[in-house]
Amino acid sequence: MQASDLLKIAKTYGDPVYVYDSEKIISQYQRLTNAFKGVKKLQLNYAAKALSNISILRLMNSLGSGLDTVSIQEVELGLLAGFKPESIIFTPNGVSLEEIEKAAALGVRINIDNLSVLEQFGGKHPNVPVCIRINPHVMAGGNSNISVGHIDSKFGISIHQIPHLLRIVELTKMNINGIHMHTGSDILDIDVFLYASEILFETAKNFKNLDFIDFGSGFKVPYKEGDIETNIEELGKKLSSKFNSFCKEYGKELTLAFEPGKFLVSESGFFLAKVNVVKQTTSTVFASIDSGFNHLIRPMLYGSSHKIINISNPKGRERYYSVVGYICETDTFASNRRINEISEGDILAFHNAGAYCFTMASNYNSRFRPPEVLWHKGEAILIRERETFDDLIKNQVDVKDLFSKKETKKEKATV
Ligand SMILES: *Cc1c(COP(=O)(O)O)cnc(C)c1O
Repeated sequence: MQASDLLKIAKTYGDPVYVYDSEKIISQYQRLTNAFKGVKKLQLNYAAKALSNISILRLMNSLGSGLDTVSIQEVELGLLAGFKPESIIFTPNGVSLEEIEKAAALGVRINIDNLSVLEQFGGKHPNVPVCIRINPHVMAGGNSNISVGHIDSKFGISIHQIPHLLRIVELTKMNINGIHMHTGSDILDIDVFLYASEILFETAKNFKNLDFIDFGSGFKVPYKEGDIETNIEELGKKLSSKFNSFCKEYGKELTLAFEPGKFLVSESGFFLAKVNVVKQTTSTVFASIDSGFNHLIRPMLYGSSHKIINISNPKGRERYYSVVGYICETDTFASNRRINEISEGDILAFHNAGAYCFTMASNYNSRFRPPEVLWHKGEAILIRERETFDDLIKNQVDVKDLFSKKETKKEKATV
């Protein structure tokens, strides 16, 4: 999609606004599918938490994707979006036994990531097949907040606990149908990933009735020109070949599963915001936008660097700007970034705004969350309306009687 399309959307729907290009989502889905065409049974389960708008979920469903969910609400959202229960997998961390039982009762596949719940669940429901999340203790790059395979991680069952795990399975007579790992976001080094996969294969040999092996996700996508990204095609070739040999040895054609979030939706998304003020200080030129970390928190939370384009003046001469928000705390999207000359009222487009952007938005400072627009076949389709004041107060209980002068007098009178 063109910058002029984005400008038109900002004009029609106001700003700030999120825009998603369906064509990019579809091409990323196909790219990943093609990279693993050497595997007979491939299943992609889109990680709903990256971007969970119901219309995006419907698009994923139409592509043949399954759904990876981390809360019972995401499970329910997936069912509402038309996913069959069996194409949803529930992969939570540290949730209650009750929440897992609820998901199992809805017929979705269950992934358990600790021995305590495994033992309890297996004891009560030995006939419900369960996938187990393994921690291979491999650190596959990225920001320390998002690498979840290492030794101190809270995610998964340690490979060093396999003997205990096997004891639980034997005693409860439960059925393990899948082995899973998710080493965290931003896989830069394919060899590290392949190394972790070997550990997974070794673990898998302990279980006789597997249907699938799930390699999680964490594919890195480029954030700017020349950025490193996971070489999906190379990973596809190498992992497919390892997987096929494993299946031969195991004696059964298993399904190879992934749960990509960022890879499928990150680059499809744009966040559009207007510049309210251009402020020159003694050291810096600030461009203050009509938004803040209430709408896009990744730069502050993870230090992620989103490319920013001035779509109102794409040919203007480049100058250095610090792009900041309106929140009454340090709220910096970019420091001293070269951007085409900015005037007040210009619209800036933040790239890579598809994954973990809207889904992390909040009402901080009592602001409305922005609308979402899907760009599909050359048409802009509103898929979420901007919030209104009613949304802000909808669930608040106003106890005005408690503090009214009248009430105080009445109480006094009864004493
Ligand atoms: C968040 C998450 C994913 C998706 O990770 P991306 O880096 O967005 O691809 C996959 N699996 C699990 C279990 C997750 O928690």
